[in-house]
Amino acid sequence: MTQQGSSKKNGLMPVLFVGHGSPMNALEDNAFTKSLQKLAAQLPRPKAILSVSAHWETNGTKVVVHSQPKTIHDFFGFPQELNTFSYPAPGAPDIARRAVKLLSKLKAIDTEDWGLDHGTWSVLCHIYPKADVPVFQVSLDRELTLAEHFVVGKMLSILREEGVMILGSGNIVHNLDLYVQRANAKPYEWAEDFDLKIKGLLVTKNSAGLIGIDKLAPDLVSYAVPTREHYLPLLYVVGASRETDVVSFPFEGIQNSSISMRTVLYS
Ligand code: ZN
Repeated sequence: MTQQGSSKKNGLMPVLFVGHGSPMNALEDNAFTKSLQKLAAQLPRPKAILSVSAHWETNGTKVVVHSQPKTIHDFFGFPQELNTFSYPAPGAPDIARRAVKLLSKLKAIDTEDWGLDHGTWSVLCHIYPKADVPVFQVSLDRELTLAEHFVVGKMLSILREEGVMILGSGNIVHNLDLYVQRANAKPYEWAEDFDLKIKGLLVTKNSAGLIGIDKLAPDLVSYAVPTREHYLPLLYVVGASRETDVVSFPFEGIQNSSISMRTVLYS
């Protein structure tokens, strides 16, 4: 297998969580997008990428087995350049079907009725701009608890031994009601506070703490995580991590006052 960057450790592909923020990041050249381009040089080249995006919630767990997944423009009010953006990465039907088998306890099903939403392509367009690494998405089942989402990540972890990089795309802090239009606006104190609390739990590999965010101050949680979907992909990434992984943060920062752009890498 050809390697894009440094060789992978113990034959294990890394696991990556990216805070994706506004879809405009796909087009922009800023500190966050530069960090993704820099990260690309360090990552091994995977056989495929399994992506869990905040933007695909379903009843039951679904896995995309399309050989050529479409680019989904799941937003409105953005420039035409974003509405017509194409990320033509191939799918990975065989590996996706293997993922369905790994999730058989959950009665996961395969589908061709989804492609790549902006949670996936707005990030990967900076890491693999040639769209030449196969990608497939796994959905977020609305019915699962936080602990169960974590377990799904664990079930998928074995794919790391088979050349698959697991990507979670969401945001650790995500409050659109209090979103400030300017990307570099001063962060809210609660946004920084929650983001740093989660960083601390990641550094100490405190999975129970990351699953049990409801035990944190209720005011803090209701501001930082008013809805769960952007936090959940982090639990898949933590679930897929191993004791032997080193955790690092290729990017830290808050955009638009209320969106944490923290990137978490296990390698
Ligand atoms: Zn989003």
